[in-house]
Amino acid sequence: MLESPLLPQTRSLIAGEWTDGGEGTLLRVKNPATGELLAEIPEAGARDARRAIESARASMALVPDPGRRALYLNRIHELLLENREDLARIITLEQGKPLRESHIEVEYTAAFFRFFAGRTDLLDPHPFAVPNSPLRWVVHHRPVGVVAMITPWNLPLAMLGKKFAAALLAGCGVVSKPAPETPLSAIALFALAERAGIPSGLVNLVVGPAEPIGVELCSHPAVRVISFTGSTEVGKLLIRRSADSVKRVSLELGGNAPFIVFEDADLELAVESLMVNKFRCAGQTCICANRVFVHETLASELLMRLRDKLPKLVVGNGMDPATDIGPLIDPSAWEKVDSLVKDALSKGAKLAHGGNPDRPRGSDWGAFYPPTLIVGANEGMRLFHEEIFGPVIAVTTFREEEEVLARANSSQHGLAGYVFTKDAARGTRMVTKLQCGHVGLNSSSGPTPSAPFGGMKASGIGREGGAEGLMEYLETQTVVEGI
Ligand code: NAD
Repeated sequence: MLESPLLPQTRSLIAGEWTDGGEGTLLRVKNPATGELLAEIPEAGARDARRAIESARASMALVPDPGRRALYLNRIHELLLENREDLARIITLEQGKPLRESHIEVEYTAAFFRFFAGRTDLLDPHPFAVPNSPLRWVVHHRPVGVVAMITPWNLPLAMLGKKFAAALLAGCGVVSKPAPETPLSAIALFALAERAGIPSGLVNLVVGPAEPIGVELCSHPAVRVISFTGSTEVGKLLIRRSADSVKRVSLELGGNAPFIVFEDADLELAVESLMVNKFRCAGQTCICANRVFVHETLASELLMRLRDKLPKLVVGNGMDPATDIGPLIDPSAWEKVDSLVKDALSKGAKLAHGGNPDRPRGSDWGAFYPPTLIVGANEGMRLFHEEIFGPVIAVTTFREEEEVLARANSSQHGLAGYVFTKDAARGTRMVTKLQCGHVGLNSSSGPTPSAPFGGMKASGIGREGGAEGLMEYLETQTVVEGI
């Protein structure tokens, strides 16, 4: 079992009390690298979710002013950094990623708390003049109400932390449902929020099955926003379920990122950027390059460089400092990745490195997948339409700018996209026309707290980070006063 000062409780936090859920079942959290049992959590159900929502709603009446909320956020920022070793260990043990990546995740999460703590100005009322009107007009931002946060397992601390920081600054009550694979990072964050002195009952954590908790979150009238990060499929279901009570939905969904390397690109930069972007979290992030388009004149050089680098990557337990790629989250994720690779090979793609992995050793753990390079990929293959979510680079070639732009935009998704070229005019043309919410031009950098991040098309609705990220949790109210 995992022992940590941040996990004195491995339970739900409802109405200010760490409590066993009433579902009567145990959630068993396992280390995906070793199968070790990390925790057994008594699961919460619909009734617990309802209590959590009602507590969050009632506690909103006691929410302090924005200045005080900023103090809480700053305190959580400090606590996250003070406890970074423990937090990183928890993330790696339950999620599998290399420990150094978990440290980066902790710092990234902390940065959201610091950013929002510094932006109380965004809540200031905004008076404005209306020509020829004798009235006084003022725009106010009010907390939207209770926010339900449903988060995935790939960045279990960061995906929750970025929502939590923005909603708290906005003055909202919170009910969080973490992914069943990785609830411990969420429990640790709530333990730190409690230590920071957040008013009891305002922030609630409900650990339990997606159904029936998800149904309760979507149907309860006090929940005003469903803030979800996860797959497009579940996102669509949540939209449908939230329609009856007309909730706002803030959705960070799946991606299918094009990574485009033009003939005039700095090839070394492109290859380095691809390596970092693709193998982070064993390829299980929404902004990972899914389709690599390389100009036909550069293809053999790019492949040679990748073939040189891939064999040097170490696959193993994320707690081992030598590890570059940890396990996939579970064997069903492994099966999905392997089926995409097999589908591509059966349709004419070639394996340039990796593939042919050993099947996972345990029944529900040890899903290691080797770094794999596939050439000759194309739109007839599943991996050009589905998120690979594994350490597999799929390369295709192109000739013309218009052609690659059309192919890049042909996906239903539009989250991240990357363009490598030294031609500034071409770079501008491409970023203008690429249908992606996050575009890297000669960079594969991910999001940062001060910038809005989110997807176009089926990759989502709304943004996280930046002023836009705060607006997800605010109602805009216009007050007109006779003078
Ligand atoms: P998922 O959609 O299966 O699960 C995400 C969360 O939703 C989990 O907490 C899960 O328990 C919950 N859930 C599942 N079914 C539900 C239901 N019926 N009602 C309520 N909640 C339900 O996704 P996942 O496999 O955990 O995560 C991977 C996906 O997340 C990928 O598609 C990835 O691209 C996406 N993602 C997107 C972003 C982004 O910022 N756009 C970031 C990270 C991950």
